[in-house]
Amino acid sequence: MLAVTAHQGTITVVEKDIPSGAGELIRVTSSGICGSDLHMIEAGLSGVILGHEFGGTTSDGRLVAIRPTGECGTCTACMTGRSQTCASAGRSLHGMSRDGGLAEFVLADPNQLFEIPVGVEPASVALVEPLAVVFHGINRTQIQRGSRAVIIGAGSIGLLTAAALVDRGVEVDIVTRHPHQSMAAEALGARPLSEPGSDYDVSFDAVCSQKSFDACVTATRPCGTLLEFGMFWSPVTLNNALMMKEITVVPSIFYGHTHEHHDFEEAIDLLARTPLLIDVVVSHKLALADAAEAFRIANDRSSGAIKVHLFTHL
Ligand SMILES: [Zn+2]
Ligand SMILES: [Zn+2]
Repeated sequence: MLAVTAHQGTITVVEKDIPSGAGELIRVTSSGICGSDLHMIEAGLSGVILGHEFGGTTSDGRLVAIRPTGECGTCTACMTGRSQTCASAGRSLHGMSRDGGLAEFVLADPNQLFEIPVGVEPASVALVEPLAVVFHGINRTQIQRGSRAVIIGAGSIGLLTAAALVDRGVEVDIVTRHPHQSMAAEALGARPLSEPGSDYDVSFDAVCSQKSFDACVTATRPCGTLLEFGMFWSPVTLNNALMMKEITVVPSIFYGHTHEHHDFEEAIDLLARTPLLIDVVVSHKLALADAAEAFRIANDRSSGAIKVHLFTHL
């Protein structure tokens, strides 16, 4: 089978054996390239098959999205509805610690599969994972209908956040840098701006740099909330504006579930109700064999890229 790996920063498509062993063999439909893939490759990630945003079909023909984190299911975090902080969640992540979905086949644990309802566009399956990331962050803020939110950064996470917040009846401003991002924001019902306004109830940092963090602090109202998506790839310092306004900084990693709620299921529900999302957010579709070109496009925002998807059959 074809599979995509990195070696010293270079993307290569290689021929590998179809995986075998315990687990469910998934025939991959599509996979997304994530900003964190780009950061990890730059940091030296090598050898493993890339890709943590993917879905496909099971041997009995069910279309599924795959939660790429491996949770142990038995530790205190897993038993108390905080599985995203389980030590095994990141340690066994598809596309980083074990082979991922940028391949024709991948072996996944049956408890990591989420069935996609009939009628949902099969190509949208690779959007479930980043959308689950988004819902996890939004749910951690406990933002209410009628609130005002600002999103700094209009890549795929920023735009998916805009769509999910608009769906919840939140008034959404989003800071964009490129015309294609502004058009996407408008299509999703958010207001694109080049500079944020002020006194937002909640700010969402979808860039995770010093500049974006500071912009969120400035834009958030006193006693408001600042949601930090994902990883800081270089250290960020705090300032006294954060103190003087008593802003609550909320970190958000992966996705979680309780007995009543699962971030993955919420993501699938929004995709099922909003077919427009895939048209707006997936800017590029390439064949798996063209992975090197796909990563080049994903790395270059001026190319018009929002989310780049790779398909095993295009
Ligand atoms: Zn990702
Ligand atoms: Zn655990």
